[in-house]
Amino acid sequence: MALKKVSEKQIDQAIQDLHELAYNLWHSWNPAAQRIFQELSPFFWEDTNHNSVEVMNWISGPELKGRLQNPDFFTRVAAVCKSYRDYMKPKGTWADKHATALKHAPVAYFSAEFGLHESLRIYSGGLGILAGDHAKSASDLGLPLYGISIFYRQGYFRQQTSNEGWQQEFYPTFDPARLPLRPVNDKKGNRIICSVPIGNTNVDFQAWAVGVGRVTLFLLDTNLPQNSQFYRDLSAHVYGGDQVNRIGQEILLGIGGVRLMRKLGINPSIFHMNEGHSAFLTLELLREQLQAKKPLVEAQAFVKKHCVFTTHTPVPAGHDKFDRGLMEAHLGPFASSMGMSIDDMMAYGRVHQESPGEGFTMTVLALKMCRVANGVSELHGRVSQEMWKDLYPDIQVSKVPIGAVTNGVHITGWTSPTASQFWSTQLGPKWIEKFRDGKYWKETLESKKLSDAELWGLRTALRRELVEFARRRLREQNLRHNTNDVAMYDNILSPDVFTIGFARRFATYKRAPLLFRDLGWAIKVLTDKEKPVQIIFAGKAHPRDDAGKHFIQEIINITKRVDLFGRVVFVEDYDINVAKYLVSGADVWLNTPRRPMEACGTSGMKVMMHGGLNLSTMDGWWREAYDGENGWKIGEDTTASSDQLQDDLDAASLRAVLENQVIPLFYDRGKDGIPHNWLKRVRHAMASLVPVFNTDRMVVDYTQKMYLPEGSKRK
Ligand SMILES: *Cc1c(COP(=O)(O)O)cnc(C)c1O
Repeated sequence: MALKKVSEKQIDQAIQDLHELAYNLWHSWNPAAQRIFQELSPFFWEDTNHNSVEVMNWISGPELKGRLQNPDFFTRVAAVCKSYRDYMKPKGTWADKHATALKHAPVAYFSAEFGLHESLRIYSGGLGILAGDHAKSASDLGLPLYGISIFYRQGYFRQQTSNEGWQQEFYPTFDPARLPLRPVNDKKGNRIICSVPIGNTNVDFQAWAVGVGRVTLFLLDTNLPQNSQFYRDLSAHVYGGDQVNRIGQEILLGIGGVRLMRKLGINPSIFHMNEGHSAFLTLELLREQLQAKKPLVEAQAFVKKHCVFTTHTPVPAGHDKFDRGLMEAHLGPFASSMGMSIDDMMAYGRVHQESPGEGFTMTVLALKMCRVANGVSELHGRVSQEMWKDLYPDIQVSKVPIGAVTNGVHITGWTSPTASQFWSTQLGPKWIEKFRDGKYWKETLESKKLSDAELWGLRTALRRELVEFARRRLREQNLRHNTNDVAMYDNILSPDVFTIGFARRFATYKRAPLLFRDLGWAIKVLTDKEKPVQIIFAGKAHPRDDAGKHFIQEIINITKRVDLFGRVVFVEDYDINVAKYLVSGADVWLNTPRRPMEACGTSGMKVMMHGGLNLSTMDGWWREAYDGENGWKIGEDTTASSDQLQDDLDAASLRAVLENQVIPLFYDRGKDGIPHNWLKRVRHAMASLVPVFNTDRMVVDYTQKMYLPEGSKRK
């Protein structure tokens, strides 16, 4: 079929649309849109970690015009832009039907980090990814929601490792003009400036807007010339600083976030605190009420009615706590401005009101000032009830008002382009609307229409993509280390070998080296001639977590052993892009947190759409998800009397399950070379997990349990 000639006017429109599209991360969950930017400049697309704005910046007007003269390319651009425009003007979304009460009373979702896309490095780990996926699903569901976070000019650190395997951190500075950010201006086009009180200083901040489909995320930024250098740097790093930096950032996020909403005329009915970092927002809301001459009791009730809180941390040490001196220095004048002494204010963050030595805990503030609170899995909900029971001395632990909403992942955002193409071909483009439908998935996955051969075809394609990605990255890493023969990295790993993925923050409770506790066993199993195994690791340790860095070093030392060379690799600089390759290519996703430290965990959910299987301790989401046949468990659903004992038991269980069940099943092949019994498990895993552990289900849960006003209709 001959394509029609493209008119000048159509081209101008397409150029305008492409510029618009570059600034909306909607493209991060739409492979056809990604392909457009990739095609425009394959080099800059790779080189900038898939940054659409950079690609557009690097292409001249005349070139873009020329490229669009190609009718084939133009047709695809026009189709993508049309689906974007249709998406942005929705009719009949889920929220239109089921959350009408929020239509003119949106949710303001506060999170210290947002993991939306690999080009926007303002996240450190799971908390941020969850916030990003929450925003994407809110957009898909048509839920009126604004995100509030911080523009970290240097983000979280970039990771390299030294020749000795020790983590090195470095911090490139971002230029906002080269990111999918737009300045937040008033109607006249002037930059909006707000301020927050930190001690006796009024610190000014500006804001940037990020389009996340229909949702807007606002990023607060103190890097303004009128601030002292000290305060310009306040928002430089994600969790980078000391206590002084931390409290300043949290004042910016909580108090500043509310002030920005007011300045913009946005009137949220719900303030959702994703973790305690933003809990100072409750004090700002309280101040507003007191300023409007409400009596304290009423003012508090008002704040409580509009705030909801999600806790994420199952250990006391993980909760921000500020001592009285620090609080007085930073919030003393703010307390006075609302007619409070610093001790009055301290009481809001203390478990025991009258204990003068007790610090101010952000989680306590959030719990005292919210309408409902939740943990992020059923077990974590219970652990949180136990942790905070002293706040509710008059009730039983099981009645402590902390519920549970189990996390999910944003399915289309985490489905690789290859897998997405596969499902579209198999099921039609409708699969995107259907993954929440358990019956549909079950029937689809049990139907003969989807053959084992095709499913295996997907697995082998994805495994090769991962192996080649790892080879490329290992080659680059080792060029830096002046390795003489980097060509040998072209042949490490194998697309035919059973592949385990392990990638996450290198917090010690996640126990990355667990598999190597019996090194002799590991060498024997990994290098087996008939049934070999390979493992790809990635992950960052927090800059001040030396124990975590030792774990990285231990893994890197293993990757350098002659007897394991090319079988175990460590890919540096874990981020969303690395995660995407790993979760799609791995046959098994290994997860070894020490129970019950993993509040939920989400990386294992990302393998579902790619035909990967989970092998995990019975912690977080997995103890809810595991049904005996949709993956494997390590150890039991119990906690041992000591960490040492727990580690021994779990390591032994991991070895046994791998050696006796997982590996033999993978290599159990039919005459056609296909592991039919393995694929049976894969089908069952997809059917049972996809409809539940996704953020559409999660955001619906949040809307029904936490966002909708009491008494409004709940379906
Ligand atoms: C999914 C993800 C995480 C969170 O994974 P967990 O399993 O919860 O540890 C962290 N970092 C990145 C880059 C991710 O993609």
